[in-house]
Amino acid sequence: MVDLNAPIGSTTGMIDRYGRRIDYLRISVTDRCDLRCRYCMAEDMVFLPKNQILTLEEIGVIADRFIARGVRRIRLSGGEPLVRRDFSELARRIGRHIGGGLDELTLTTNGTQLARHAADLHDAGMRRINVSLDSLRPDVFARITRRDRLADVLEGIAAACAEGIAIKINMVAMRGVNDGEVLDMLRWCDAQGHDLTLIETMPLGAISDDRQDQYIPLHEALAPVRAEYALLPIDHRTGGPARYFAVEGMRVRLGLITPMSENFCSGCNRMRLTCQGRIYMCLGHEDHVDLMTAFRAGGADAVDSRLDEALGAKPLRHDFAIGRGLPPATTRHMNVTGG
Ligand code: SAM
Ligand code: SF4
Repeated sequence: MVDLNAPIGSTTGMIDRYGRRIDYLRISVTDRCDLRCRYCMAEDMVFLPKNQILTLEEIGVIADRFIARGVRRIRLSGGEPLVRRDFSELARRIGRHIGGGLDELTLTTNGTQLARHAADLHDAGMRRINVSLDSLRPDVFARITRRDRLADVLEGIAAACAEGIAIKINMVAMRGVNDGEVLDMLRWCDAQGHDLTLIETMPLGAISDDRQDQYIPLHEALAPVRAEYALLPIDHRTGGPARYFAVEGMRVRLGLITPMSENFCSGCNRMRLTCQGRIYMCLGHEDHVDLMTAFRAGGADAVDSRLDEALGAKPLRHDFAIGRGLPPATTRHMNVTGG
């Protein structure tokens, strides 16, 4: 039974009002990106001015405090984290905590700049990363991302593998765009030794396409896979929201992230630090705590009280809905919050 009046945080780590241990932090290190994925942003996306963004030094100090409060895993994301200058320095700085409070440092990247960063990521202690790849067909990739960069992404993946970094491919399923490619992607991942996670598109921020047209529930996108292979639930966990399955006759692990068709909030262990220095306790809510202002006024000591405030405000669940004419769940895009 959870005592709702008990002090939050302290030596037991961070436990929210619903008894969930919050030990996973995602940090969006920049909102900028060199792709323009259709489900994420519009072609003419306006990025934040630099003075409204946390410096890498600030992110480093704040990450130290979060780790001291019980965060055991950190995922660096964005926007595209690898477009931020001196990203490797931040990764090295946070990576120093691995084995001394931090269990794992990981990354979500679109892979376009991965080839030149792979060695630095390994040096920083990263042993597995997520690479977003929605199609293996150059024309479909270019249609989704609005950029002709598939070859760079494949080169980046190969470079990371050569460094001994395990790869999980993230694929957002889009109706009529790449939903027919799920089986091909699964077979490719299996052959390459990668895991694969399929994601349902979420209504975050305004985009130029209609999300109702984009959205396909994963059980539908998976029909061609199930027609050929049995999917067996497995216990594998990576700290994120995916449920994992073994695919009969393959070594690939298949993860499913189904925020729309099957809510997974009861097991949520996450909070997010945006590039603007805001703490969001839920991807699907606008409620947040402004950490940047507090930090710039009061330094690292100010982080703790803001963290407690954020923890006390973590909602039970998101309320995503996609339908024609419905507004997005948040005005904020995924690139600001960090996927
Ligand atoms: N730029 C990096 C990348 O694409 O991997 C990291 C940031 S991106 C926002 C993180 C993840 O969020 C990616 O796997 C992307 O496909 C996913 N994503 C972005 N917008 C989304 C949306 N509206 N619904 C579902 N997934 C989304
Ligand atoms: Fe950029 Fe990632 Fe958003 Fe695609 S999903 S536009 S790569 S931030």
